Amino acid sequence: MALSIDLTNAETRDAVARLQPAKVAEKPNLIGMDRTEMAAAFEAMGIPAKQARMRVSQVWQWIYLRGHDQFEKMSNIGKDLRSKLADNFTLDRPEIVEEQISSDGTRKWLMRFPPRGAGNPVEVETVYIPESDRGTLCISSQVGCTLTCTFCHTGTQKLVRNLTSEEVLMQLIVARDRLGDFPDKNADNDAFIPSGDRKVTNIVMMGMGEPLYNFANVKKALLIASDGEGLSLSKRRITLSTSGVVPFIERTGEEIGCMLAISLHATNDELRDEIVPINKKYKIAELLEACRNYPGVSNAKRITFEYVMLKGVNDSLTDAKELVRLLKNIPAKINLIPFNPWPGSAYECSSWDQIELFADFVNANGYASPIRTPRGRDILAACGQLKSESERLRIRERLALEAMVAGHGD
Ligand code: SAH
Ligand code: SF4
Repeated sequence: MALSIDLTNAETRDAVARLQPAKVAEKPNLIGMDRTEMAAAFEAMGIPAKQARMRVSQVWQWIYLRGHDQFEKMSNIGKDLRSKLADNFTLDRPEIVEEQISSDGTRKWLMRFPPRGAGNPVEVETVYIPESDRGTLCISSQVGCTLTCTFCHTGTQKLVRNLTSEEVLMQLIVARDRLGDFPDKNADNDAFIPSGDRKVTNIVMMGMGEPLYNFANVKKALLIASDGEGLSLSKRRITLSTSGVVPFIERTGEEIGCMLAISLHATNDELRDEIVPINKKYKIAELLEACRNYPGVSNAKRITFEYVMLKGVNDSLTDAKELVRLLKNIPAKINLIPFNPWPGSAYECSSWDQIELFADFVNANGYASPIRTPRGRDILAACGQLKSESERLRIRERLALEAMVAGHGD
């Protein structure tokens, strides 16, 4: 588990900030720009409009199909243009501050993105979960969250800011880099890894933050992730999870076209108001109506309803019955999530027997209801355990800070 230090004190916080001079992003990164933006950026650099589209296609393939991060290796682009591109843009990856591997093979990366303008660097957690038939990458959309679901660790971290499309997409690029999903750039034949052999086969927007409060950037990143000439992830393998930002649900289906997951967690407004406070704004009935109308929803493309199992709170058979009643006429799957504890959390996970009873009831009523096996709990990588922020320090930084406080630091 990562070391942490309590930085509630503003002076200490400043001292730490001085200890780690942030690398400022000087040039725009091409990762995260859509084709139109990239073409405009190339034109602004002096590439004639007619040529810009063709250049975008070339660069697109180098960066998304082959995973290159150096312009000089783009062999179908002339030398002069390559160096001009390098002068104006970057393909730099974020710093990987920490990589943890759980005893069950789950990996968690803490990535540090350089500051935007006058802001601070931000740290983001991304989790990779290997299973026998798939490899799922859990991507963050915000640093912190404005919502305060009572069972969620991320909800205790105030929103620092929305991630840019570059930062959302970069989490996928870094995971593919680290897991060997791009062709080996140093091999003689940098052959592609066939999609069946790739480590990342699915992505879920289930990391830190509420993706529908960062709709534009998440949309842009997911459209690039599913672009057929690049990263080529099928939209059926991309799932966006929302706590229920109703006004953006239809747009998610229309404009992104990915699979939808809803963090339901309660079957009546009274309890949901308490544990998923966005419910005070958008009630269960309104949320389920948006689900019924989700563009593209069908029995072959069901909505997943996530339901965290909290002992004595929402796990009774009455709740199970109510859940089945509520979801009538919605093509749905139910995903029961054993509650993952975190330091200071006020809940307990339901007993295994109770989870099975609950699952058996919803199964008997026609819903596939897999119980999500908790993964990566030992490295705080499981659902709802993510929390980055600068409160987390590496040993070196902590020691340096202590030295500084003792008057020996520089
Ligand atoms: N903000 C989005 C997506 C991120 S959370 C959302 O709320 O849907 C991903 C899933 O993990 C959500 O269903 C969330 O409710 C659930 N979750 C949060 N904290 C949890 C915890 N401690 N144990 C189990 N699941 C949790
Ligand atoms: Fe935010 Fe989702 Fe956690 Fe709720 S469950 S606090 S919406 S990240």
